[in-house]
Amino acid sequence: MHIPLIIDSHEDLAWNMLTFGRDYTLSAAETRQREQGGLTPLHNGDTLLGWPEYQTGRVAVVFSTLFNAPARRRLGEWDALCYTTFDEAHSLYRAQLEAYHRLAGEHPDMFRLVQTRSDLQAVLEHWQRTDTDEHPVGLVVLMENAEGVRHPAELEEWWEGGVRIIGPAWAGTRYCGGTREPGPLTADGHALLKRMAEIGFVLDLSHMDAQAALQALDSYPRQVIASHGNALALLPGSDSNRHLPDDVLRRLIERGGVIGLVPLNAFLKAGWHKSDGREAVSVDLLVAQIDYICQMAGDARHAGLGSDFDGGFGLQSVPSELDSIAGLQILAPRLTQKGYTEANIAAIFSQNWLGILHDNLPEGA
Ligand SMILES: [Zn+2]
Repeated sequence: MHIPLIIDSHEDLAWNMLTFGRDYTLSAAETRQREQGGLTPLHNGDTLLGWPEYQTGRVAVVFSTLFNAPARRRLGEWDALCYTTFDEAHSLYRAQLEAYHRLAGEHPDMFRLVQTRSDLQAVLEHWQRTDTDEHPVGLVVLMENAEGVRHPAELEEWWEGGVRIIGPAWAGTRYCGGTREPGPLTADGHALLKRMAEIGFVLDLSHMDAQAALQALDSYPRQVIASHGNALALLPGSDSNRHLPDDVLRRLIERGGVIGLVPLNAFLKAGWHKSDGREAVSVDLLVAQIDYICQMAGDARHAGLGSDFDGGFGLQSVPSELDSIAGLQILAPRLTQKGYTEANIAAIFSQNWLGILHDNLPEGA
């Protein structure tokens, strides 16, 4: 049977590696076993990720983030890698970038940094091979919450280090309004975007307040995406600016953007709480999010998957049908039931993100 490839547009791998010591060469089951009785599952849930699960789920490429939080949003004593100054942010972000280089350097058969079109091509060709079941997972580095950049002049350095996508916000930042901290693009934000565009970064609108996102949609001349975000319209009862309102979605679609839909229960059913149990949410609500984007666009070319797995939540907070990242394949039959063709499903699972990468990565050697 043909199992389609998946590209996942958001995973905070380095944050997990450096905060919790997680080792993603292991299976999710092995990591859960190791962490049993410890504090990590309490703070970040049971892991949903592991290299063997990428293989069975045919997850060929992941947008892997650099992410650290400002100290004012620290989640607890355990949340050690937060910053109070931009210099601190800079060194924390450097350490995460180095962690990806180390991971790919030590396990080139398992993980590869994707910085160019030829890197991408090599990873995809490997996944086409039928003489082996073991394929390297491509990592496209995405900087979330861009306060690791102290000055636009530094962007060149981050590009050289392999960063290809930048999201200026998480909470509100020096660059723009963000989650629970609304506001427009600031002067620093405009300067950041200007330099990002000159170099060729993709702009990630996730976490940006709608006001800032709409300004960026009007002014950013290059590719815009939302790596992980859901449609606010399907979340009655929520007024969170973390979700994407229709005007932002419409403009993203017009601008050729792709939206990575998130299988997090609280983002699928407003008001969901861990005490409600994971059984209270079905993956059909994720299908509804995908369908909403496709109906709005009139085609299947703007929806993708942005799991955000292990990004502050784990197994306990995802729909009951999902045991790990490999479980996302269940979306194929569910979408088929809704009338989506094989080509539509391939678009949503991987081709839409591949198109973005193909159009925006530099050519390479
Ligand atoms: Zn995020």
